[in-house]
Amino acid sequence: MESKSQFFDLTEKYFAQQAALYGNDFYLDVGLSSSDQPETLDEFYQQIKNCQKCRLSQSRKGLVFGTGNPNAKLMCIGEGPGYDEDQQGEPFVGAAGQLLNRILASIGFARDEVYIANIVKCRPPGNRNPESDEVAECMPYLKRQVEMIRPSLILALGKVAGQNLLGLNESIAGLRGRVHMFDGVKVLVTYHPAALLRTPQWKRATWEDIQKLREIYDRDVGDKPPLNKS
Ligand code: SF4
Repeated sequence: MESKSQFFDLTEKYFAQQAALYGNDFYLDVGLSSSDQPETLDEFYQQIKNCQKCRLSQSRKGLVFGTGNPNAKLMCIGEGPGYDEDQQGEPFVGAAGQLLNRILASIGFARDEVYIANIVKCRPPGNRNPESDEVAECMPYLKRQVEMIRPSLILALGKVAGQNLLGLNESIAGLRGRVHMFDGVKVLVTYHPAALLRTPQWKRATWEDIQKLREIYDRDVGDKPPLNKS
């Protein structure tokens, strides 16, 4: 860094860019003091399960924290709970969840081997997209989960998940097919399983995306037996 003023200029630009993307309440504060930082995901869930930081708390049945292996190497992140997820308190249940399970199985992952979460933890009414201020309030929780789990790879499911995770305003076509980063973790983006149920023509592209995911996983982690391609 050449000078202090250059450092402050860059810092100011960074915060201005983040505020433009996420609003002024963006991702720094998880709302926990250093003395009550959770040590386990369950402790973290207990701390936030009654969260009312955004308006989504008013219409939810319950907060959908996330599920799966706390030491997962692969994390799947969707957009937000739907009706079934809100009722059952678990992400990706119902038809879209079953399709996600089959997608994961096709590259050798069982559902309970990965960790599954969403950008927002409470159901947006009528399954609308989460608003940017809701995402800004909830994102510190997801960041904390990623910090605690430390996956090697993240699969973002759908445009809304990809855009909000990466702070990019691109189409799914623009987000797919390349490796992004989120807090030092590699991210691939593919179609949301619910979108695949509506538009089966996108299955081919999804298949290509998850083959790429498995290739990167094999290169970076390499703890899985070869896929049976027959
Ligand atoms: S969506 Fe997130 S920030 Fe909003 S109430 Fe639910 S847990 Fe809290």
